[in-house]
Amino acid sequence: MTHNLLKVLFVEDSEDDALLLLEALHTEYPNIFHDRVDSARTLGEALAREKWDVIICDHNLPDLDATSALRICQERCEDIPFIIVSGLISEELAASVMMNGASDTISKARIARLVPAIRRELHNKSAIHQLSDAREKINRIAYRDQLTGLPNREFLAMQVNALLNGAAPPPNLVVLAINISRFLQIQGALGIEAANITLQMIAERIQNCIGDSGLTARLGGDRFAVMLPGNLNNGAIIEKIRAIKQNSVQPLMISGHELFLNCNIGISVYPRDGRDFHELFVNAETAMRTARTEKRCNYLFFDSSMNSVDKEHLMLEHGLHRAIQEEEFLLHYQPQFDLRSGKLVGVEALLRWNSPAGLIPPAKFIPLLEETRLILPVGEWVMRKACEQNKAWQDAGLLPVPVAVNLSAIQFQQTDLIPMVRRILNETGLPARFLELEITENIAMHNEELIIATLTELRAIGVNLAIDDFGTGYSSLSYLNRFPVQKLKIDRAFVKDITDVKQECSIAKAIISLAHNLNLGIIAEGVETDIQASVLRESGCEEVQGFLYSPPMSPEKVEIFLANGAFDAENFGALIA
Ligand code: C2E
Ligand code: MG
Ligand code: MG
Repeated sequence: MTHNLLKVLFVEDSEDDALLLLEALHTEYPNIFHDRVDSARTLGEALAREKWDVIICDHNLPDLDATSALRICQERCEDIPFIIVSGLISEELAASVMMNGASDTISKARIARLVPAIRRELHNKSAIHQLSDAREKINRIAYRDQLTGLPNREFLAMQVNALLNGAAPPPNLVVLAINISRFLQIQGALGIEAANITLQMIAERIQNCIGDSGLTARLGGDRFAVMLPGNLNNGAIIEKIRAIKQNSVQPLMISGHELFLNCNIGISVYPRDGRDFHELFVNAETAMRTARTEKRCNYLFFDSSMNSVDKEHLMLEHGLHRAIQEEEFLLHYQPQFDLRSGKLVGVEALLRWNSPAGLIPPAKFIPLLEETRLILPVGEWVMRKACEQNKAWQDAGLLPVPVAVNLSAIQFQQTDLIPMVRRILNETGLPARFLELEITENIAMHNEELIIATLTELRAIGVNLAIDDFGTGYSSLSYLNRFPVQKLKIDRAFVKDITDVKQECSIAKAIISLAHNLNLGIIAEGVETDIQASVLRESGCEEVQGFLYSPPMSPEKVEIFLANGAFDAENFGALIA
């Protein structure tokens, strides 16, 4: 027995019959709100006025028959139980109204069936509601990305495939694969929470650009995808992409830090680049990965030749895991000289991968080491190996000079960097002043306070610090006098720019005078010509490193320089032959 209010609408021409039915319901449902109608018009009005729990309909009314009443109810609000109670109803008619969606037909002679029928219908209705609530919840979880609220990969795939397999597939459809440049570093520097906020803000920015013209989804991590249906030509696609890029490069304020982000975008177009979501998306991602290595634009249309590049990428990644186990890495060293005296002043350790397929240059595998975070164990190996080697050279009585080791941003953010440096110096016995760490300018972009603290601790240990590839980063120069570094390395792009002795204002010159003003040491890398060397010398550059003097070499060959202690132009060829 239930005391909940039951709202019953009688479709019945006789007031007495309605009262009789109320009686029949009373024991089970003492709280009944009811109304009685007897025409199509009054039925329509009653449905508009109230949310009924059950409709009990007589079969033969002067102005309305049960089948029409049922249709009216279904048009208005489809899921109210509709029970026909009638004196005379043929088996055929009962079957026909049930087929049309009536919940039950009950003969007045067997009115005791009414209550169980209502109970059953109400129970079914609530079960159906629960089911559809659950289904909606499942849809929300199954098809939404929880962090950004955007649709997820499954939903996007479903929509794209539904469009392409539909009755009128669009003549053309674009899939964009988007990721954020250097997202791993940002996550490493700022932590998961700030990284999540970053993702939410980027999601919003992409979504703002796309709006209703397409569908934006997050596929996990920093990977997003967009579907643009409709007949877009390349110009219109590029316009959209420019909008996304422009929006996403606007600085973001995250936990008090100003972040400059960039994104890489790969584009694939139906039907040329794929016939379903899977093919289109895989190809868009391939284009995105290729775009990531493009310095200039960061977006590319898919082109089938990219697949071979992608395969190479996979092979490399596989190979790197093996390289660590099989000890296929080695270090080469490039000497650094004083530009005036020609004296050897240091060596830079540069990682080489001696893979079964030959020697692979760092530009190809270092980004992959960073992506997979394998740079952490490999970077530690590099530092240990370089320190061991330098100590061995000094123990052998060769000229003691610092060895420079490159630090990736990811290593710089690892929490145990300081203990690791201490440990390596201790274990190898190399005095700290003979280790120099090269960090790139982009490290300086995030979390300045933390970076200053780390650099200060490193200085306290006694190691030297240099900023590598100086001038190519995005950050402002204001950090320079706050960072306890000793040296700037002019990026070789600016050295390459020096083509003429009379060239008045090169960027290299500007960097040299900046370093002098800040009391920092300065070294130019990538020096290849005599003209470059003499312009650098005249501009006051102190040290050089480059093919003009020596390429990076095996430890055995570097020993000849260390024994000699200086650059010897005449014997140069003989020394490195
Ligand atoms: P980098 O630290 O700026 O190293 C200098 C690069 O310039 C080296 O390239 C070197 O071979 C090249 N180079 C030197 N002199 C000349 C020249 O006169 N002309 C030209 N065109 N190039 C010259 P490499 O060895 O291919 O290394 C490339 C980059 O890979 C390095 O740039 C560094 O950023 C990274 N790298 C190398 N070893 C390591 C490492 O152990 N750890 C990390 N994190 N990065 C490394
Ligand atoms: Mg370097
Ligand atoms: Mg460099």
